[in-house]
Amino acid sequence: MSTKPAVLVTGASSGIGATYADRFARRGHDLVLVARDGQRLEALADRLRREAGIAVDVVQADLTVEADLARVEARLREDARIGVLVNNAGAAVLGPFVDQNSGPLAALIALNVTALTRLANAAAPRFVRAGTGAIINIGSVVGLAPELGMSVYGATKAFVLYLSQGLHLELGPKGVHVQAVLPAATRTEIWERSGADVNTLDNVMEVGELVDAALVGFDRRETVTIPPLPDAGQWSAYEAGRQAMLPNLGRPHAAERYRAA
Ligand code: NAP
Repeated sequence: MSTKPAVLVTGASSGIGATYADRFARRGHDLVLVARDGQRLEALADRLRREAGIAVDVVQADLTVEADLARVEARLREDARIGVLVNNAGAAVLGPFVDQNSGPLAALIALNVTALTRLANAAAPRFVRAGTGAIINIGSVVGLAPELGMSVYGATKAFVLYLSQGLHLELGPKGVHVQAVLPAATRTEIWERSGADVNTLDNVMEVGELVDAALVGFDRRETVTIPPLPDAGQWSAYEAGRQAMLPNLGRPHAAERYRAA
């Protein structure tokens, strides 16, 4: 058993989550792997036990199902070996809003928003008591770009960014590191699962490059990591613009332009 904190990765059966599992295993961390496809998780666990000599537990769970989500929450609350949560499981619903249906939209929000929030909420109090721990939330650049035409998916990812920034402010001073990772198009199964062909897209990043870059940001204790963004100054300027508004958002009178003549 490793002396390093164990890492619980949701959505570890493929793509970004499976790659996080691989990278944390190579760093010598024990793992708890969560997803619906138990066979794929077991195959990954076998490989990582063999190749990295770490301990791996598999938890088969559908995070949109209450009893399964509650099991993973309990694990995060009770298993003191877990010191890092990678909140990665997610899905996309593509196409115009007017063609989308309430069932898939509710499932999307249940996974990308509700499950992610509840798992962070299950881990955070224990991490705060320990004075250490980390939560990595996988957002998306779509959360910054309504122009991309994925309104509900993007809104779930805007939520992830906001939540991560808020939790960073609350938990950071208590020793808990919170990072939002905002990938752009990355070659994983999410495209096929949502009915798109990744091979028709330009500028697709390979998943290993994405996760390795995100981990550079993690090691630097970044709050927001946008692996494809060449100029970090653009993000800083965006943040500075938002923060400059803050003193002006709470005023007792309507702004001049809204006053009736
Ligand atoms: P992926 O290969 O489809 O992986 C999604 C993972 O989530 C799988 O392990 C899947 O496993 C799991 N999952 C899906 N529904 C689940 C459920 N109901 N309960 C539990 N686990 C569930 O896609 P990915 O690209 O790696 O996605 C990982 C994260 O990256 C997502 O949050 C996604 O929004 C984000 N992201 C991806 C891209 C991109 O272009 N790929 C860009 C920006 C952000 P099972 O099917 O076994 O449950």
